Amino acid sequence: YFSALVVDKTEEVFSVNIEPLSFEDLPDGEVTIRVHYSSVNYKDGLSSIPNGNIVQSYPFIPGVDLAGIVTSSKDARYKEGDKVIVTSYELGVSHYGGYSEYARVPGEWVVPLPQNLSLREAMIFGTAGFTAALSIHQLEANGLTPEDGNILVTGATGGVGSMAVSMLAKRNYNVTASTGKESEFNYLKELGAKEIISREEVAPEKIRPLGQQRWAGAIDPVGGKTLASVLSNIKYGGSVAVSGLTGGVDVPTTVFPFILRGVSLLGIDSVYCPKKLRETLWKRMADDLKPEGLGDIANEVLFQDLPKTLSDILEGKVRGRTIVNIKDK
Ligand code: NAP
Repeated sequence: YFSALVVDKTEEVFSVNIEPLSFEDLPDGEVTIRVHYSSVNYKDGLSSIPNGNIVQSYPFIPGVDLAGIVTSSKDARYKEGDKVIVTSYELGVSHYGGYSEYARVPGEWVVPLPQNLSLREAMIFGTAGFTAALSIHQLEANGLTPEDGNILVTGATGGVGSMAVSMLAKRNYNVTASTGKESEFNYLKELGAKEIISREEVAPEKIRPLGQQRWAGAIDPVGGKTLASVLSNIKYGGSVAVSGLTGGVDVPTTVFPFILRGVSLLGIDSVYCPKKLRETLWKRMADDLKPEGLGDIANEVLFQDLPKTLSDILEGKVRGRTIVNIKDK
């Protein structure tokens, strides 16, 4: 037997408990992994509440990220002892996820841990870091360079936001961080932000179709009205990488930023990002996108603390990235 965090829902009760499981309980897949670390994302928070609309059938093990060591593999690309990362696809959504001492997954989902990255560091990045890396990759593929001017990151103290700030700083971009948390200005400076502005400044009550040309590019995990306002303030030819919806799903914009300033809106999806690009990006995250002091910028919680952390992230109380230490349970 081994331990896993199991969420269960019947007509009467919803429960979140650490429970013993056997290997027969694990889903089908070619690669079995001893999980060392997982992490906590907004989506995981949603999986731990009754009406989060993430989990499709119960009982279920959440956790959209995991890093660990292969214990057995029917996929020739992996063998016992290999250090690996698994994120995205159906992991922690409809396939048992990372909040478990052991996981079994399709070989296609597995990414080898790159050189210069530990299993712990891989989970400090997790899906949030990967999404930030994909955002930077797409902005740069669309022509962005540090010489073009300031880059805005919204929701900057969140998982995607904090990773984007520190990765952009590592790449020598001038980062403007936008946050709703005044108490975290110093934290954002430490991550490498040059300028910090409030949420209200980024998304005022009244959004003009075309505002001042302030930013050469933006990474936006917030969406909603914020995205509409950001688009109005992008410099000629600049682009915005949108990945999230913490600020809402409706974007009240106009065609003007696109047709009068040549602004591009780049959609960011980490879940079905093709494997080749996925592996390239993980290698970059171990290299030119790896922030200074990466190992120090995460909170680490123990397995038994997970239920509390999952509710904290939904209440917006979590800062930056939180990893779960599963190997030392
Ligand atoms: P998170 O850690 O909870 O961060 C979200 C941040 O957004 C918060 O820390 C807060 O930052 C800001 N925020 C929260 N409520 C807001 C509001 N009402 N208006 C404006 N800003 C608000 O979540 P995450 O894990 O980074 O995920 C962020 C978003 O990206 C989520 O929507 C998630 O589903 C999405 N996501 C998408 C992908 C993809 O592949 N597309 C991958 C990962 C995540 P401040 O307090 O600093 O403003």
